[in-house]
Amino acid sequence: MKACATLTPTPIDFNNLPEKHNYLRIHKTLYGKPGVGRVLPLSAITIGGLVYAYSARGDATCVRTYSRINKDLCISQSTIARAFSKLKATFITSDKQSSYTFNPVERIEYNRSEELFYNEYFNVRGVVRRLKQSEIHVASSIVTKCLNNKKKANACTFSMRELAEELNFNLKTVKTAIKNLLYACIIVRAAEEKGNCKAKKSTYHLNRKLYLHIKRGLRKASEKAVQPSETIIIHKNADDVATEARANRERFYFARREIAERRAESNKAKALKDAVFATAEKEIKTLGRLIAFAEIRNPNDVAELQKRMTNNLTLRAEALKRLNLSEEDLTPKYHCTRCSDSGTLPNGRLCDCYERSKQVN
Ligand SMILES: [Zn+2]
Repeated sequence: MKACATLTPTPIDFNNLPEKHNYLRIHKTLYGKPGVGRVLPLSAITIGGLVYAYSARGDATCVRTYSRINKDLCISQSTIARAFSKLKATFITSDKQSSYTFNPVERIEYNRSEELFYNEYFNVRGVVRRLKQSEIHVASSIVTKCLNNKKKANACTFSMRELAEELNFNLKTVKTAIKNLLYACIIVRAAEEKGNCKAKKSTYHLNRKLYLHIKRGLRKASEKAVQPSETIIIHKNADDVATEARANRERFYFARREIAERRAESNKAKALKDAVFATAEKEIKTLGRLIAFAEIRNPNDVAELQKRMTNNLTLRAEALKRLNLSEEDLTPKYHCTRCSDSGTLPNGRLCDCYERSKQVN
């Protein structure tokens, strides 16, 4: 059993997400009628989503072996078999032994479910493991809400109760799933976005790297090797407790920076769509370099370059004004001005804003 030693799973690296990926389309009818309750087990809903993903693409059939599904979605072959027999009654039709079609549905309403949620490992509170089905379904619903939000990119607002009703989950399952997804950095919610009003609606975002990755919308699945579906439980000792505290702290700052930087980035993107702003911005960067060079080598050119710089700065400022933006809108508005939401002060010491925020909450 030599292989066991090398089986330590590594959690997903959001900076290095799989190049290509597939996703399932979990048709919302699979979750059952609101108020009536869920009829299918979650694994069957997932399999239904796999068949629907194919049916919805127009070629109408899904021909896949159980072992291939097992490889992609990490669901055991016996569970897959049970799922198909449950689905066959109402949701899918089977022509031959392994060819399935999703039965016609009135409306196209589905949650987008990334395959990487099924076969990657995540660090959930110090445990490196795959996501549970309930977590995947909650994550998929949030992905879909964030992608569908026309008013605000990568944001969605809902109460846990609403999500529980949508998925026919019990409230506790939704609460636990959201907590774990926040821990795993799949979703982000800043402290101030947590719902405090009566309706308890909170605002969530996807991890920005994951969001951009999904947006790029690469469809083909990569043929990467899949590790066995084992959960590795790490027993906590004093070191682990310290690691966890550090991770909590990092997660706190990660969420704050995301919020601050996302706003600035989206404003910058908006400004760059303006041709005048974009050209001036580029010129300013180039001129900055040219001036620095001229100061050393050709001091006589400096005045002329400075003049061009001033011109471009004016053009840029005018464009911003026309776009109803200010310089401030382009720079991240950090919650803590002392550490810029990094947690570390310029002198290398740790900032106390994390501890202070814990006292407030
Ligand atoms: Zn601070």
